[in-house]
Amino acid sequence: MPRSPKAPASLRVPLLDLTAQYAAIRSDIQAAIERVCSSQQFILGPEVEAFEREIAEAIGVRFSIGVSSGTDALLMSLMALGVGPGDEVITPTFSFFATAGSVARVGARPVFVDVDPDTLMMRAEDVAAVIGPRTKAIIPVHLYGLCAEMRPLLALAADAGLPVIEDAAQALGATYEGRQAGTLGTVGCFSFFPSKNLGAFGDAGLVTTNDEELAATLRRLRNHGAEARYYHREIGGNFRLDALQAAVLRVKLPHLARWNAGRQANARTYRDLFGDAALRGVRLPPQAEGRAHIYHQYVVRVPERDGLRAHLTERGIGTDVYYPVPFHRQECFAGVTPPDRRFPHADAASAEVLALPIFPELTREQLEHVVACMAEYLS
Ligand SMILES: *Cc1c(COP(=O)(O)O)cnc(C)c1O
Repeated sequence: MPRSPKAPASLRVPLLDLTAQYAAIRSDIQAAIERVCSSQQFILGPEVEAFEREIAEAIGVRFSIGVSSGTDALLMSLMALGVGPGDEVITPTFSFFATAGSVARVGARPVFVDVDPDTLMMRAEDVAAVIGPRTKAIIPVHLYGLCAEMRPLLALAADAGLPVIEDAAQALGATYEGRQAGTLGTVGCFSFFPSKNLGAFGDAGLVTTNDEELAATLRRLRNHGAEARYYHREIGGNFRLDALQAAVLRVKLPHLARWNAGRQANARTYRDLFGDAALRGVRLPPQAEGRAHIYHQYVVRVPERDGLRAHLTERGIGTDVYYPVPFHRQECFAGVTPPDRRFPHADAASAEVLALPIFPELTREQLEHVVACMAEYLS
């Protein structure tokens, strides 16, 4: 029996294809790379400083420190805030590994909380329940490109005298009540991993803050804690940003708003197409009043996730699962969480989430193909 609507069998929909983006900015990128090569200054320097100024202005924050990765941004933030052995840091149990891994790496204990059943992000009431005398910081994650519900979290943190480290690695350009992700808490951490919505040509990251003293500490920590060259008041690491990465990011940054708008337009198209298809059991990404979602990932929830995913793979459609194993079930964190603590929403999410292609250069035909192939399996 013929299936309808049938897209050409040759139509491929990768989860992410950066070649179209590169083709559109190729000559600017090559000029930027050539500029750095001609200068032969590869670490920090004027390209990094210019990028730091430009991105700070773009998101409305006083200080920005270019660093080696989003993971290092988190690690340095914890170091700068003096978090160490004997301390506890509260994170959602459902995020990319670095959110919790960085806490363990400074010798502190990650304390996991379950997530909101709709947004899959940290909730203030869950955080309040686990704040104790050893708590030193809270790390909300703006998952998939939507800000966490920050107002109650910030109020709780202020009451408890705790700093808030925003893991904004997936949320560059997302807003919360008109303010940018990564400018709401004590520090903001960003990643420019190539697949992020602002992607470098390798690893790169950023820390943002409005606190001058913290900014100075972060700058020292980035370079082995050196105040002046070879004089170390504290111990940092090599967390420096490369000039080549900064030069590439400077070319891309002016396009980011348009790329994010392209993701949002694709999300609207999906919403329309899914509405028409009325697919059984598919939950679309949450929308929240006063929060602009930039759809770093477009993640649906579907009970028959693994079967659907295999079907889509067979049809040439790329998908991924962010994330299949919450922190409280990770082998490396065995024993970290009291055995009676339950995380039902994160457990449910890890079995149901499925990221669909959303990058800005996708065509309507490709989006239609994704929804049609899902309908094929689910109806
Ligand atoms: C990507 C990501 C990171 C880590 O960034 P890297 O640049 O890959 O080190 C941290 N947290 C979240 C939520 C991420 O998505």
